[in-house]
This record gives sequence, structure tokens and C-alpha cells, in this order.
Amino acid sequence: MPETKASYPLEAPGLWVERIGQTRFAAGRPAVFLDRDGTINVDIGYPSEPRQIVLRNQIVPVIQAANQAGLPAIIVTNQSGIARGYFGWDVFAGVNNRVLDLLAERNCFIDMVLACAYHEAGEGVLAANDHPMRKPNPGMLLTAAARLDLDLVGSIILGDKEADIEAGRRAGLSRLFHVKDGADAEQAAMREIQAIGLPRGCSFQRGVRRVPRRASLR
Ligand SMILES: [Mg+2]
Repeated sequence: MPETKASYPLEAPGLWVERIGQTRFAAGRPAVFLDRDGTINVDIGYPSEPRQIVLRNQIVPVIQAANQAGLPAIIVTNQSGIARGYFGWDVFAGVNNRVLDLLAERNCFIDMVLACAYHEAGEGVLAANDHPMRKPNPGMLLTAAARLDLDLVGSIILGDKEADIEAGRRAGLSRLFHVKDGADAEQAAMREIQAIGLPRGCSFQRGVRRVPRRASLR
């Protein structure tokens, strides 16, 4: 298939960095980083056909919570299928757009997508051993942080592989959630997002040290 670098938001032959939407975020916000395959959509192994994409229902409230809390929702996905020659960026674009469309149907909005095609099994320019952008390395998270001026320490990552968690760790994140079927990682992540996203001072209204006592004196 014909493919030109100019057609896609490629910052290097193996690095896709796409800002989506117009939402502006204040400097120093934490982000919610999300692996894609196996975390947002059911993992079927090197998805290449948009019709194959099925969302994981558990992730929907997590992304909705990030949107409502004003935290950027950022996909960080390894796509070694490109390096391996299984498909090209055109196929990635089609599948990824399907993921974004399905999310939008559920009122979930992604603010940035980063994808890394480098892999040691690749050929040509995509052949790279331990590339800094490929998870478990933190390059995609650091790139997003530089673009959106993020608070990485306060940020969250959800992923289905240890490489996702390790990438978060290497980027300095303190909130790491390994999603597995039957586990409650998504619920825990959602609670963290809701707590982080509250305006300063509002945590007092969540029932710990409550303000109402003062209010009742009036
Ligand atoms: Mg995954």
C-alpha cells in the first residue's frame, strides 16, 4: 500500500505523535496514560482490521473519569507489527481511528496518541534493539509530558503487560495499574482519577474531614 510520511503524524519513521481535539490543559496536570491493545480494546494480537475492534467495557468509566476530571487521556502503544512487516502505518491509522470512534460513541475522548513501531525483529529503519520509545522504556511518556507540560509523578498508567507498568515506573509515575480480567484495577484507577481531578480543597467534601461542621455554624 502506498504510504507517505507526510500523510501521518510521524515524528520519525517509527514514532507516531498525534494531538487530538482542542482541549487545553493547564501546565503541570497529571495525565492518564493508557496502553491500547488489551487495555482499551480486547487484545486479538496485531489487529489490522477495524471491524475486529471490540472495546473492553471496564475501561470506559476510566476514560470518562479522566475527561471529567480534566486530565489528558493519552494512548501509548507499542506497534511492533509495523516493524515486523505485518502492516503499515495506513493500517494502524484505520484501526486506531476505529478505536477512537468506538470510544467517542461511549463518551470517551482521547487527547493524544503515541505509537512506537520500532522493534528488534524489524527491518531497515524500524530495526532497533531496546529503542527508547518502545515500552518498557519511557520515551513515549516523556514525549507526551514535554508536549503537554505534564506532572509525570502524579500521572497514572493502565496497561495489561508488565512492559506498560515498567514504562510508567521508568517515567517516574507513582500510580501504576495492571489491568487483568476479573481484577479491579480499573475501579482503583478511577478512584485515583476522581481524587486527583478535584479542585484544591474539594477533598474535604468527600467525607474525611468535612466542611459541613463549619457550615452549620452559620
Ligand atoms: Mg497491551
